[in-house]
Formats: sequence, C-alpha cells, structure tokens
Amino acid sequence: MGSALNSSSSKPPVAGAHRPATPSPAAVNAEAASFASLTDKLDYLSPPDLEQVRLAYRFADEAHLGQIRNSGEPYITHPIAVAAQCAEWKLDAQALMAALLHDALEDCGITKVELIERFGAPVAELVDGLTKLDRLHFDTREENQAESFRKMLLAMARDVRVILIKLADRSHNMRTLSDAPRKKWARIASETLDIYAPIAHRLGLNQSYRELQDLAFRHLRPWRYATLSKAVDKARSRRRDLFQKVQREVEAAFAHSDMSVRIAGREKTLYSIYQKMDEKHLSFAQVTDIFGFRVIVPSVIDCYTALGTLHQLYKPVTGKFKDHIAISKLNGYQSLHTTLVGPSGVNVEFQVRTEAMHIVAESGVAAHWLYKVNNPQDAATGERLGSKWLQSLLDIQHETRDAAEFWDHVKVDLFPDAVYVFTPKGQIMALPRGATVIDFAYAIHSNVGDRTVAARINGEQVPLRSELKNSDVVEITTAPVSTPNPAWLSFVRTARARSKIRHYLKTLAQTESASLGEKMLTQALRAEGIEKLPDEMPDNQVLWEKLLRYSGNKNRLELLTDIALGKRIASIVAKRLLILLADSGKKPDALLLTRERYAANDKVSQGGIVIDGSENTVVRFAPCCRPVPGDAIVGHLGRGEGLIVHAADCAVAVKLKQKDTEQFIGVEWSDEPTRAFETGVLVTVTNGKGVLARVAAAFAAAETDITRIDMDDEAAQETADLRFIIAVRDRNQLEAALRNLRRCPAVLKAQRAKITQ
Ligand code: MN
Repeated sequence: MGSALNSSSSKPPVAGAHRPATPSPAAVNAEAASFASLTDKLDYLSPPDLEQVRLAYRFADEAHLGQIRNSGEPYITHPIAVAAQCAEWKLDAQALMAALLHDALEDCGITKVELIERFGAPVAELVDGLTKLDRLHFDTREENQAESFRKMLLAMARDVRVILIKLADRSHNMRTLSDAPRKKWARIASETLDIYAPIAHRLGLNQSYRELQDLAFRHLRPWRYATLSKAVDKARSRRRDLFQKVQREVEAAFAHSDMSVRIAGREKTLYSIYQKMDEKHLSFAQVTDIFGFRVIVPSVIDCYTALGTLHQLYKPVTGKFKDHIAISKLNGYQSLHTTLVGPSGVNVEFQVRTEAMHIVAESGVAAHWLYKVNNPQDAATGERLGSKWLQSLLDIQHETRDAAEFWDHVKVDLFPDAVYVFTPKGQIMALPRGATVIDFAYAIHSNVGDRTVAARINGEQVPLRSELKNSDVVEITTAPVSTPNPAWLSFVRTARARSKIRHYLKTLAQTESASLGEKMLTQALRAEGIEKLPDEMPDNQVLWEKLLRYSGNKNRLELLTDIALGKRIASIVAKRLLILLADSGKKPDALLLTRERYAANDKVSQGGIVIDGSENTVVRFAPCCRPVPGDAIVGHLGRGEGLIVHAADCAVAVKLKQKDTEQFIGVEWSDEPTRAFETGVLVTVTNGKGVLARVAAAFAAAETDITRIDMDDEAAQETADLRFIIAVRDRNQLEAALRNLRRCPAVLKAQRAKITQ
C-alpha cells in the first residue's frame, strides 16, 4: 500500500530492498514494542479473535522479513501502525487482520488463494480490495477529475472497511513521509490533499481529515508551514491567560446547573488557517477563530440549554449562530456553533454537542464500530447517535449484518446514480447508472457517438447496448461512414446521447427528403420534356432565384424537401420552371417533350421514382396493403407526410386517386431492393397442440422472418385465425411461404391479408 513511499515495497518483491542477514537488535525491539502496543489496544476483541489477529501478524511478519522502511525500521512496523489506527476505530478482527496483511499480496509474492486458505475468504477479499485500490493511479490535476477519482475509489471498494484501512494506511505513510526522498513529497502530499483527505471528510472521519491535510500541507509547503506554526505558537502563549479565564468562567457558569459538562479547548489546524487566509485574502492576525471551545453534554436538549447558558455568560455575535443539529451536514456532522464576545472584547468560538455527536464528528462512518464497542448494551444506538444519515446506516447494518451490503447503502447515499469508467487513455468519465457503451461514446464527443460501430470493455468485444460497470475501461471503434442507428434510442440512458441521435436522424431525414424531392421534380420535368433539373451553377443562379421567389422557399434544399413532403406539387413547380427556362431562352426540345408526354400517359411506372427500401423516413409503405417488390405500386403524396407507397390495386389508394389525382406520382421497385419488406398473412388453422410451431416452421422454411403474431384468444374453438406480419424480399418469396403453409395438415387457409397494427 502506498508503495511509492517505501523503496522496499516496489515491485518486483523486495527488489532493491536492503536485506540484512540478521536484523539489528534495535530493529527487533522496535518491532516487538510495536506489536505489543497494538495488542494493548485490542482489549475489545474476544480471545479467539485476538488469536486470529496474532496469527495474521506472525504471517505478515514472516512475509515482510528483511524488508525495511525508509526510516530503517523493519517493514512490519507499517502494517502494525495501520492496524493500530484501525483498532482506534474499533474495527473488527477481519479488518485488523487485513490491515496487518495489506501489503503482503503486492509486495511479498503471497497469493490470494493462500490468504483464503489461511485466513478465510472475507479477510482475503479485504486485502484484495486494498491491493486493487493501490493499482489505481491518479495523476491528472483537473479538479473534476479528482472528484471523479475519489468517487470511483469509493465505488470500487466493495466494503467500507477497505476504505477505512486505506485511510489508515495513507495516514501512517503521511506521518512517515519525512523519511521518504524529498522529491516524492510533492506528488504524494498533493494526492493526499486531492483524494484521501476529501474522502475522509466525506465519510465524516474528521480527525483523519484534519491530520491528512496538515501533514500534506507540511510537506507541500514546508516553509509556509513552519512560519505559520511559529505564529500560532506565539498567539497561543499571548492568549493563554485569556483562554484560561474563559475556561474558568464557563466552568463556573455550568457548575450551577446539574448538567454534566465536558469543556475542552480546541485549535484550528494549520492547514485550515492557511486555507482561510488564502481563500479570504486575510493576514494571520485577521483570522480570529484559531482557538475555541468545545462543550460536550449528555443529550440533545442539553445542547440548547448549554447554548442558553453560554449566551447569558457572554454576548453572542449576531449572524454567527448555526444549528447543525437540526440541519446536520452531509457527512453526518452535528453541533451547535456560536461565536461569543469574551473578556476584553475578544471573539471566542464555541461548539456544543453530545458525546454521540462528538464521536460522529471525529470518526464519521467509523463511529458505527466505535459506538458498538463502547455501548454493547445500548440497543437504541441509532437514536443516541443523532445524525439521520448515520442512523439510517446503522439501521441498515442492524438489518443486514453484512459489511458489503452496508457499504452498498452508504454508496447509494453518497452518490446515488453514478458509474465511473475509464477511457483507454485513463481519463475518468462519470455516467448515470445503467449507461451503455453508446452513452459513453456520446459523452466523449458526438462525432464519436455518431460513428460508433463496435466497442470493447476491458479488452473484450461487447454489444453496443452493454451496460457499464465501475472501473471498466471502454474503447470505442468508429467508422467514418457509419451513422447512428434509430434502435439505439431504445436503450441509451443519457439525455445527451438521446438528443444527439434524434438530431442526427432529423437532419438525415431532411437530406433524404431533399433527394427524394429532387427525384420527383426531375421526373416532373421529364414529363415536360426537360432531361434534367438545372444545376446550381452560376449560369442558372437567376433561374433558381426566380423559382424560389415564386415558391416562397428560402433555398433549393427547402423547396426540394417541400416537394418530397407533398407541401408543393412537383408538376406545378416543373411547369413554372419550364416557363422560366423559356423566358431565359433555354427552350425545351419540342420533340422530346411530346415523346415524354406520350410515354408518361402510356405507363404510370415509366420514369417513376425508384424505390429500393433505403429511403428510411421519407418513404412509407401503406399499412392497408403493405406492398412488396413484385406488386404494382403507386405513390401518394400525403400533404406534409411525404411519400406513401400503396399497391396499385389497393382499395384505399383507388379511392384516394379519384378525388386527389394531383397528389399521385409514379413509383417503381428497384431491381435490387436493399432490404426486406413487411406484409400481412392470415392463416386459418385447426386448433391443436404445436400448430403455431408448425406454422412458424413453414415460414422459416421459406426464409421469411416473422415480425409480429396476433391470434384470437379462443382456445375452445375448433379453428383459429393467426395473423402474421412477415418480412420478405419480394412477391416470389411470399408465394413460397404461402405454398409451404398450405402443405401443413393443420392449415385450412393461408392468404395475404390486410393486417392492421
Ligand atoms: Mn501500506
């Protein structure tokens, strides 16, 4: 753990470590003293638990034998110190064992299997979790990246004990940072400030938080730290008399009440003084709340009583009172804060809280273990602890008795819906829980999202709809020609991805509309004897300007889109264009004109718009007749709806044509359709077991895909109607499917039919 601190713990195991043949007597003593001091703190454990911890110690001691710290002490002093910190928090035996073993996996060539065999899976899991956290490297300096990294670290730990041991590990490494080479100080100290101190704060481990900040400050800005330290010492001795006086007066004031009160002085840490000076541009003399008092009372009501007593003793400063009991801080911190005008007009800060609030304020999440050990008989622990957040955690812990589940709840509270993943370059991305590969691609850039064709997670090819998990490394493959798939809309999770896909499809629809409109206008021009649509070359600029003025469109694209959507009629635009061409002297060929007219009247499909199925949103196939290639077709331009293709003999189309001839245009199937087309089939069968399966098999035999099935809910009847929508290449394939069906004994009738949605 924190192996950067100790040259002896870098990989490969013990390479470069100084390995004396026999440890010096002094080193052996230090080590023995160190473990003895740990056992002194373990009196809350049961004898069998204590024995387990001892076994873990012996194992770790052996594993680290010969390794030494930068200080020259045996390496084992470090795991012992980490375990001692965990013992301060009264963590259980498993956590203490893991603390002792925490560097064994990484540095000593011990395997996880070995740990499972010796100490059981829970301890091995804790050690493994710690080893994994250690492998994460944080090296970007951006603020939001630090935030994400912290969250990911927390999210990755499957057990809150892992985080606590990790913080204990970092604390000891920071306490001994001065032994490390000076060039390492800055990096390790800023990592502590950016990552570990805020985690301690977030979990309410305020004592660790303050210590980590101070140690980091000391190594990051040694000179400033020393200067500030001297200034505080001076101020302390200058104010000693004053504060002794305040302490006496406060004690006297409470002596008259029958409340049992503990009054203690407290001092702001050097780092928080530095921070305040830095943020508010103050000089040291301007920071007035360096020293203060803490009043600890038995119950919540006593807090308010004590506040009254204090406010009667000294005059409160207006605007300085804060009730963090009624409204606790996010990390569970509760206290009353007030600033009073003390003797000689000096402002003095007071914090008033209960013992339980004090434990939470100092130890946060760890208060859970602390309190359990200190008050084993106290069933109403949660209530006494006061903080709603911690109380709910404790309730969960009481219900589950499972540290992993407990931690899951804590995490839900800390950051409800996020998942943290890496780009291949190691950048962290935060996405909502349930986010998929496509969401990730769009989070990187809409150009990446639009062109995504494949993805890998942790090196393995995965479907694009795959959900992301914490710490996944996600790699997106793009292709320049690829475009968003409308089906992505059904699984993307982020609003960003959704809107980008929609935007793309809308733009796409517009381009497709315009190109259909161009086909339609060209077709109408041919009917008038003009071979092709005049292009946009400078020659024709005036022509187009006149045409657009006539049609009232902004530009060519809009006019063509309007034609495709049926808002303008192609033949009328074509006639106008013809007049404009005649005006400009570019007259159409009279002979061609006659021939085309004749041809157009001769056969509807001649020179019609070719349909191949690639038109997507612009062309729709009428649900009344569902034409497939091989059927004679006509195109109807619903006003504003675009082109709808009907079968030529469709009753709906025939009726429409009678009153709305203008809106019909010639269409024809491409010789090479790009996809299958849906059509309806009605199958009447005798009811019986397995009939549906046989019908489905008949469709499959003709290589048609069933896209939808509907059937009557009349199992009692002798016959049943099955309604299918199937996808076929063309009419021949449909006929083949119908023939297959008719050969089934159970099938009474099989025919193409109108199947409505
Ligand atoms: Mn360590």
